[in-house]
Amino acid sequence: MNMMTELKTEAQFVDQFGRSKRKLRISVTDRCNFKCVYCMPEHPEWMKKHDLLSFEELYQFCDFMVRRGIESIRITGGEPLMRQGVVHFVEQLQDLKKLGLKRISMTTNAHYLKQYATALKQAGLDDLNISLDSLDADQFKQLTQKDLAPVLDGIRAAQDVGLPIKINSVLMNGINDDQILPLARWSVKQKISLRFIEFMPLDGDRKWSSEHVVSEQQILDILATEFEVSSQANHSNQSNSDPARQYFIDGHPIGMISTITHSFCGTCDRVRLTAQGEFYNCLFAPKGLNLKAEIKALTSATPLNEVSLHSALLNYIWHKEHGFHAIEQLLKKQNMDKSSRKISMHMIGG
Ligand code: SAM
Ligand code: SF4
Repeated sequence: MNMMTELKTEAQFVDQFGRSKRKLRISVTDRCNFKCVYCMPEHPEWMKKHDLLSFEELYQFCDFMVRRGIESIRITGGEPLMRQGVVHFVEQLQDLKKLGLKRISMTTNAHYLKQYATALKQAGLDDLNISLDSLDADQFKQLTQKDLAPVLDGIRAAQDVGLPIKINSVLMNGINDDQILPLARWSVKQKISLRFIEFMPLDGDRKWSSEHVVSEQQILDILATEFEVSSQANHSNQSNSDPARQYFIDGHPIGMISTITHSFCGTCDRVRLTAQGEFYNCLFAPKGLNLKAEIKALTSATPLNEVSLHSALLNYIWHKEHGFHAIEQLLKKQNMDKSSRKISMHMIGG
């Protein structure tokens, strides 16, 4: 066994249900130029710029986590392309590939992608997830308060430079559920992988209700009016902890991230860090763990700092709940409602 494997097997993070942590999502900013109805609050209170961890501090944290088993890092936000220096951060992270990091990915609304696609490719980004919830320009503007055209240009630019992409579409009942067939047709024509996401109770203004959710089954029924729909046997990707359940429409792959009706929590290998250093063991965790001081201390590289960060994380990650439905039950039992949770999707990054 070489030294690297030895370190990883000794120190990796596992929760009480035996789920090892392999994927880290880093939100580099909570700011966004879009105002998606299912995400951004009407009146966002942005994190203060001086409260954000620097890219150097984020890098040290990533290094620490990769040495403890993290294999994949996703850069998200807010809108990650709004933070100056993010391309250089991608480039820096390449160094961690020699420690066991396998993938560096980004989730973006693609508004600025046309201008960044080449640089991201050159910096070594492995792939992109792009949010696109409507192909109707007017509806897109209502949903996001921005124009559709730059997003489509961004998608084309990413394809032109050879960046692998996946499109994520959040559906809301009565708002953009008429986009199921147009988005599906477009993805087949463009040969782009598409995933529909069930609307989750993580919107900034806490207006989520189950009536707004378009379920996996509803989506499949609509797809079946036009396409031959088949399911990938046993949703085999689930064992790889991919949150998307895989189907084919006329032989073209399509995914469903159905957190509400088919939660993927049982195999969850993800952990998350906000831009100001709050660590979350679950997207739905009522509380994060403030690691700002410990992460800042990492830059001074004394082994003692690593020990205290490691033990804080070990304990917090161990206590990760089983998942979305377990947390809902817990909140009910403690007579807490979801509005007591201060974090929403634009801070934690999806
Ligand atoms: N701004 C980037 C983007 O939109 O791709 C990255 C951050 S965004 C918070 C990450 C992902 O979360 C996007 O795919 C978005 O559609 C999804 N998302 C945001 N709010 C959501 C919600 N309430 N339910 C389900 N998905 C949501
Ligand atoms: Fe911005 Fe992404 Fe949230 Fe939309 S989903 S408001 S693009 S952070």
